[in-house]
Amino acid sequence: MESNIILALDIEEKEKALRVAEDVSGYVKAFKVGYPLILNNGVSVIRDVTRFGEVIVDIKIADIPEVSRNIAKVVTANGAAGVIVHGFVGRDVVREARKEAKNLYVVAEMSHPGNADYLSGLSERIAVMAKEEGADGIVAPATHPERIKALKRVSGLKVLSPGVGTQGGSYREAVESGADYLIIGRSIFMSPDPKQKIKELLSQR
Ligand code: C5P
Repeated sequence: MESNIILALDIEEKEKALRVAEDVSGYVKAFKVGYPLILNNGVSVIRDVTRFGEVIVDIKIADIPEVSRNIAKVVTANGAAGVIVHGFVGRDVVREARKEAKNLYVVAEMSHPGNADYLSGLSERIAVMAKEEGADGIVAPATHPERIKALKRVSGLKVLSPGVGTQGGSYREAVESGADYLIIGRSIFMSPDPKQKIKELLSQR
């Protein structure tokens, strides 16, 4: 099934995460694996999840360029089809991470309230830089669908959008604002029937 949902597997326990991944396999575009799963189970958990679909690793890389490149290299060697890097750390970081990631996604703006403290004032410039450095997409918030539209317009890049469901964003509004993929976690994996929840969301397209 053609799906635009990326399931955020923010689950600490590996067996539980793999059970959910197996259940929804074929109904998601990819799985997003981040700190909760990797820190509790080791980097090899990335490969475990690839049994059920592509994995995008989201440890929001934000180190100096050389270290960022090495982090991207390690997760790619362990099966990551994509890597998410922070954009606020600068062009040189994105450029180095690009060298090792198969697909690179740059955080332009976040979905939580503190985003307004600093990041939202920089996000247009980050999105343009991401395009210039050859990123495959940007991350922009479904909690502020107008930002999806604006950041897609200035960059022309694909938009991966978190914030639907638990954080208050609407699937339909995000899609209508131009989000290419929706990153959704808790409202799917905490529901009694994750696959059914995904089907319901996709039927809103
Ligand atoms: O559970 P929920 O659907 O809110 O999960 C959203 C996921 O998207 C989490 O994994 C979170 O780390 C991630 N994310 C986010 N805002 C960003 C980038 C990623 O919420 N700007």
